[in-house]
Parts: sequence; C-alpha cells; structure tokens
Amino acid sequence: MLSEDFLGLTYYLSHATIKDHLDFSKIARVVKEHKELYIIQNTEGTFSAEITGSMRYSAESRADFPAVGDWVEASIFEGGQAIIHNILKRFSMLERQSVGAKGEKQVIATNINKAFIVQAVDRDFNLNRLERYFVLAHNGGIEPVIILNKTDLISDEQRANINQVVKKRLKSSQIFMTSTLTGFGLQLIKEYLIEGETYCFIGSSGVGKSTIINHLLGKDILETNKLSSSTNKGRHTTSHRELIVLDNGSILIDTPGMREVGITEQREGIDSTFDNIAELARDCKYGDCSHIDEPGCNVLLAIEDGRLSYDEYENFKKLERQTEHFSATVAEKRKKDKAFGKICKEVLSEKKKNKY
Ligand code: GDP
Ligand code: ZN
Repeated sequence: MLSEDFLGLTYYLSHATIKDHLDFSKIARVVKEHKELYIIQNTEGTFSAEITGSMRYSAESRADFPAVGDWVEASIFEGGQAIIHNILKRFSMLERQSVGAKGEKQVIATNINKAFIVQAVDRDFNLNRLERYFVLAHNGGIEPVIILNKTDLISDEQRANINQVVKKRLKSSQIFMTSTLTGFGLQLIKEYLIEGETYCFIGSSGVGKSTIINHLLGKDILETNKLSSSTNKGRHTTSHRELIVLDNGSILIDTPGMREVGITEQREGIDSTFDNIAELARDCKYGDCSHIDEPGCNVLLAIEDGRLSYDEYENFKKLERQTEHFSATVAEKRKKDKAFGKICKEVLSEKKKNKY
C-alpha cells in the first residue's frame, strides 16, 4: 500500500478528480523522462518504465504521453522493468510551443502548484520575458512566482529599483530577490514552500536555477552550469528533468533551460497576466475593440493619461499576435493532416480494388 504522503500524493488526491476504483498498489509518479523512456517512483523504489503499445497507438498529441510530474498507474515486473498503462488526470500542466515542430506543443511538466520564474538581475533581466513566462504558467493553471537571482552583482539601490519596476508591471505577484553567493533571500523561499506541493523552476539557462535548488536541498544534487570565463554565459548542461523531494516534504522539479518560450493558442493566460488591460477593455466603446485605433478605446486612453505603460501594452499586443499565429498554424496543420489522411484512404481503397 502506498503511503499517501508520498511525493505529494495527498495533495494530488485532494485536488484532482479521479476515477473511483484506483489501484493504489500501482500508483507511481514520473520523475524523469527521456525520449519516451520514463523513470517512475513509488514507495517500493525507482523503476525504468515504458508505455503500453495501445497508449502509444491511441495518442493524439504529446499531451497524451506521460510527463515529469504525472501520477500514473503502472505494473512493475520482476527485475524492475515497468509498464505505464494509464496517466491520471492532471490538475495543471506546463506547456510551451515545441521548438522544432510548428503548431505543436510540448509538455514540460505536470501537476505543479507554483512555477518559480527565475531571472538573473544582471544581463538576463527582461520584463517582457517575465510576462511571457507568466502567460505560460497561467495557461497551465499554475501560479507564477518571481525569483530575481544574483543580487550580489548589483547595488542595493539597483536592487530596490528593479523590485519597484517589477511590482509596477506585475502587480499581484510574489517577488523573491536572492543571491546564492551570499545566501540573501534563500531562507524566505525555504519558508514559502509547503509540504506536499510541487514547484517547478523555469527561466533561461545560466540564471542559477540549479544552484538555488541545491541550496534549498542543502546538497549538490544537480550539476550546475560552469560559466565559461571568456563569454560569461552559462553553457547548456541542464538537459535532464528531475523531481526532488525536500526534507519538509515539498517537491521541486527542475526543467531544462528555456530560451525560447513560445506560447500556445490559449487566451486565458494572457487575460490573467494582463488583468489590468482586460479590466480597462471593459470600458471600451465597442465590445470587439482591438485597442489599436478605435474611437472610444479605453485602453488607448489609459496609455495617454499614464494609467497604462506603453511597454506593457506593446508586449500585450505582441503576445496576443503570437497566440493568434499559433492558433492559425494549428488549424492549418489540422487541415493538412486531414487532407493527407484522405489521400492515404484513397490509395488504400485503390489498392484493394486492384487486388480483387
Ligand atoms: P541554471 O542553468 O539556471 O541552472 O544555472 P546554474 O545554477 O547552473 O548557475 C549558472 C552560473 O551562475 C553558475 O556558475 C553559478 O555559480 C552562477 N550563480 C548562480 N547563482 C548565482 C548568484 O546568486 N550570484 C552569482 N554571481 N552567480 C550565481
Ligand atoms: Zn479598446
């Protein structure tokens, strides 16, 4: 029997709607994924797993494959080999636009409570990108939290300044400022973590995600990026994904560096991230106002009288355009796939005709 405190299972069971007859002896959590090979864990141990052929056959998209963070039902055989035959319903899912394939999505991790969005306060700091990560998190039903790391590289005054700037743009967000070098701010993050909840860390490579996780853990589990001294840029070494349990029972997921955070077709994330613009838009003269040049546009008026910054408006429009572009690409891809399916059918029926 599985202990309910195991890897955040208590939290999961109290927040997900799952079928009644769950075989608890088969429940495990996916802690690592690499090219359709999975490492799953339960109270008995850690096992290497594959999915059943029928799961692969019936999968319609990447979202139908297991991902780090998933609760699954799996059979474990002698010798430690395991077969996953069911993914339990996810309560949240972090997805981004696939880097290679157009119009496709990639699941980064699932069943996450909060996403720490990490930026370094030196060269990596970028408000627009911060907002983009917010959209990504909100789209997946995950609460975004900000960590601004490497505060040792700037003065106290600059630190206060950045804090102000971020607060002004992303009003409702929790902001942590940290330095893993001096230990500044790390205790506050430790105290923030709740037993049984799952947290992920997203942000560009080299901002200090692995170092922060190692500090929270109190030991070096993750290999950190060594900065190459000539360029001062982190090399790309974090290609794994791992799920780590802290002493206090909270669970951390380390995701690979995400330089390109392509957003998907969902609109919800934009509306929650830019809730102040959504609020302003309610008073636009036309219901379908695009806030570009319409008369009586309250959003444009707010820019004019200083209630809304132009930078924020511009980023909002940009992310909106990308969302629309992604939807169009998905629609086009579906059309093509359908047409291709039709051709396949025709060829097959021709073959049949010729045979008989
Ligand atoms: P990741 O790619 O986001 O996981 O980044 P790493 O944790 O691998 O860190 C990248 C580099 O930044 C390493 O050389 C760390 O030692 C360095 N680093 C991490 N945190 C800090 C910090 O607070 N201040 C400074 N100056 N360097 C840091
Ligand atoms: Zn408007």
